[in-house]
Amino acid sequence: MTEELKHWVGGKKVAGESGRFADVFNPATGEVIARVPLASRAEVDKVVKNAQEGFEVWSEMAVPKRASIIFRFRELLVQNQDKLAEVLGREHGKTIPDAKGEIQRGIDVTEFACGVPHLIKGEFNQNVGGNIDLYSIREPLGVVGGITPFNFPVMIPLWMGVMAVACGNAYVNKPSERDPSSADFLAELWTEAGLPDGVWNVVHGDKEAVDALLEHPDVPAISFVGSTGVGEYIYQHGCANNKRVQAFCGAKNHMVIMPDADMDQAADALIGAGFGSAGERCMAISVAVPVGQATQDALIERLAPKVEALKIGAYNDPEADINPLITVQAKERVESLITKGVEEGADLLVDGRGARLQGYEGGFFVGATLFNNVSREMDIYKTEIFGPVLSVTKPQSFDSAVQMINDHEYGNGVAIFTRDGDSARAFSKRVDVGMIGVNVPIPVPMAFHNFGGAKRSKFGDTQMHGPESIRFFTKMKTISSRWPSGIKEGAQLAFPTND
Ligand code: NAD
Repeated sequence: MTEELKHWVGGKKVAGESGRFADVFNPATGEVIARVPLASRAEVDKVVKNAQEGFEVWSEMAVPKRASIIFRFRELLVQNQDKLAEVLGREHGKTIPDAKGEIQRGIDVTEFACGVPHLIKGEFNQNVGGNIDLYSIREPLGVVGGITPFNFPVMIPLWMGVMAVACGNAYVNKPSERDPSSADFLAELWTEAGLPDGVWNVVHGDKEAVDALLEHPDVPAISFVGSTGVGEYIYQHGCANNKRVQAFCGAKNHMVIMPDADMDQAADALIGAGFGSAGERCMAISVAVPVGQATQDALIERLAPKVEALKIGAYNDPEADINPLITVQAKERVESLITKGVEEGADLLVDGRGARLQGYEGGFFVGATLFNNVSREMDIYKTEIFGPVLSVTKPQSFDSAVQMINDHEYGNGVAIFTRDGDSARAFSKRVDVGMIGVNVPIPVPMAFHNFGGAKRSKFGDTQMHGPESIRFFTKMKTISSRWPSGIKEGAQLAFPTND
């Protein structure tokens, strides 16, 4: 029997009532392994009401006590890392080492959040005039929503949710309906850690549930991670409903290889960053930009055999390099983009279409694919492919490489490989991209720094985790205070100054 998943509301599992469900697949076999309920507006409303009750309790709890519960949750994440990697891998398809890496990045943010008593501290000035002390404090917003994508089903709900909860909010996660079980697992761990009921909730669903959150009068803020089209809609619709919204979206990340770079290191970096997680990462490198013809030749000579050697496989196959894509539609889309690249005139050096694996004939696999001589006009250059496809562009100059990057609609991550500090410095200054790597192909900042892209890779001003998350998930209050002994006699009608 196919397992029927449940929402997580008020500290317990709650069956879906809408009668609508979506199938959840094991991408390695193509089999349906679960059905996830798709919440109605009325169900979302119930979740928000429950979360408000959780918020009343949680926001009144002393901050160090809140931190100790987060600390316990961190311990449970560490203890359950293997189980969580299994749940994640089965539905997402990524390999166990990759899943553990993702979980670790979620643990990192949880560790950062344990310092919330320090992070949330306000500001104080004594006697700013007339014996008045002036102080600013950060208060939670209330019930906040987190709408998360399929490609990091543990890390991203944690990146936003742990910071939201650390700041004293209640959190409603609407995870991807394609790999929803990890979100339920996290919610159970929170309850085990002692989080009051209703503070961390999971409502499964699709556009109907998302719209219900976006329009709900008792949800003041929404954090979103996903594709650009959906993110732009969420940002605009959420703002139109007077919410604070941040949306982290699609990407096309370039890596520039300078003629002085160590070519073996550069090729290895491209294999890891281009094909890890089958390219289904917002920080994947999908475009390699060689500076000069000799660089292109040296790179291709090293890359092609390495790409050829990459093996497709299921999440629990220790030999696997390339996991299956999330759905059969994703597989078909990526394969049709490869066909488009051939029609557009790019040189297809390694073709991953039609990949088959014995015993996994129904799996959604696309093999590692390498294009050479890709140009700026081609669809395969412009589009976020989100699959195991690496495009090497025609040789560029340093200036034209920077121009290409700045002209692209996305600006999430970028990297340069070089031994020359001047080039690296000029590059970091000139590119309009949120996260830059110098000889670091996947420059995802650590939890105590901020994460976020530029241009159409992000909507809204604030970034994910780091100090900016404290700003996003709190509102500021400023209090001017004095005591009767400091008040001068008589009414003062002129506008107050610091005399
Ligand atoms: P997606 O946009 O399809 O889905 C994201 C979330 O939005 C899911 O919870 C989904 O249920 C919901 N959703 C989907 N369609 C909707 C609609 N029409 N209205 C309202 N809600 C809707 O994204 P995905 O395929 O799950 O994730 C992959 C995308 O996410 C890629 O574009 C990737 O680059 C991006 N991503 C970005 C970052 C980042 O930090 N910039 C990180 C991870 C993933």
